[in-house]
Amino acid sequence: MTREHDTAASGGCHCGAVRYEVFGSPVYVPYCHCESCRKTSGAPVVMYVMFERTQVRFTKGNRKLYRSSATAERGFCRDCGTPLTWEGDWGGKSVIEVHISTLEDPERFPPDRHVFHSERLSWFDVADRLPRYSGTSVNAEPYSYRPTVEF
Ligand SMILES: [Zn+2]
Ligand SMILES: [Zn+2]
Repeated sequence: MTREHDTAASGGCHCGAVRYEVFGSPVYVPYCHCESCRKTSGAPVVMYVMFERTQVRFTKGNRKLYRSSATAERGFCRDCGTPLTWEGDWGGKSVIEVHISTLEDPERFPPDRHVFHSERLSWFDVADRLPRYSGTSVNAEPYSYRPTVEF
């Protein structure tokens, strides 16, 4: 029997110049609230689907890479500017996170955690019961499982 994530999923940027495929189950599906992700996306929070580098294949065009820190690069389309990836080392694995909304069918990848939750905008949270990590979730325990903002 084939599990849902054993089939490939595809995605790409808004203008279609860059296309990619991902294979197999993701490592994590995190919300990231860190300031670097906010600045490079223009959004108050970003969501990724994380894969090991070997699970990702670019099938059309190529992303422009921007080194956003000593240990990570971010890929985007040089033509339309769509943010596509975060690429670096995560818990000893070489990974590529794709921005979830660049996938054709983001519904297939429900989120499983919040990382760098302590860096979030103070008025922003998400109404779910997922684990919230202060920083990275590697070798860490969540500090909360509920929204911080009352509603
Ligand atoms: Zn594009
Ligand atoms: Zn981040």
